[in-house]
Amino acid sequence: MTKPTIIDTHCHLDGEEYNDDRAEVIDRAVEAGVTRMFVPAIDLASSRRIMELCRQYPGTLYPMVGLHPEEVHADWQEQLKDIRSLLSTHNLTPNTQPPISIGEVGLDFYWSREFEQEQLLAFEEQVRWSVETGLPLMIHCRKAQNEMVSILKRYRDDLPGGVFHCFTGNEIEAQELLQFPRFVLGIGGVSTFKKSHLPEVLPAVVPLDRIVLETDAPYMAPVPLRGQRNEPAFVGYVLTLLAQAYGISEEEMAQRTNENVDRVFFSE
Ligand SMILES: [Zn+2]
Repeated sequence: MTKPTIIDTHCHLDGEEYNDDRAEVIDRAVEAGVTRMFVPAIDLASSRRIMELCRQYPGTLYPMVGLHPEEVHADWQEQLKDIRSLLSTHNLTPNTQPPISIGEVGLDFYWSREFEQEQLLAFEEQVRWSVETGLPLMIHCRKAQNEMVSILKRYRDDLPGGVFHCFTGNEIEAQELLQFPRFVLGIGGVSTFKKSHLPEVLPAVVPLDRIVLETDAPYMAPVPLRGQRNEPAFVGYVLTLLAQAYGISEEEMAQRTNENVDRVFFSE
């Protein structure tokens, strides 16, 4: 049986992991029913690269631009200045696709707190861009939920929405994030791991209109492919897991998550 049409809201298709077979990876995804793929940036160079890559696949690949927290270094202010300019429509060229989201942005204190203050400032500035432009946020957060939530709260009523990408938390953390209207949780391969509590946590506290699917490819390949290079074609494993967890058909899960994507990313 062919799987219903679905969307991978987070895949790093510009990554060098795909340099040898990027076109085949995209073809395989489309054949598997993954008809739309959203590509997050991590810095200025990837923001530019992704806008050009997505231009070659209009209606299939969609770009984001932003500065990832792990890429916040001494030059963060110059990076932000140039990334911001990519959001002005008059800086678009015929070779670039306009971004649909600001991402991925956020806070990551797992690996290093060396640039903690800079991360906080860079994240808040990009949150303000979301308010100014009306583009939703694609948020990465690791070991920093309290700090992230306190920044977002300052803009709560003015934010257009977004995705808390790679959600892996507990019921209390899920509920804290859902207090932000128009935001959804991005669920990926971690949900399929044997020790994951997401199959219980999500149906308990997260309504069906608050989740979207993602791979985070090339990372986080789902079971039974764990440890391999991930690719958007594999997002179907997440769909299957979530449909079982919520006790609905894969068709209904696909339809509900697609509606959520359209509401967050494509409604005016
Ligand atoms: Zn990512």
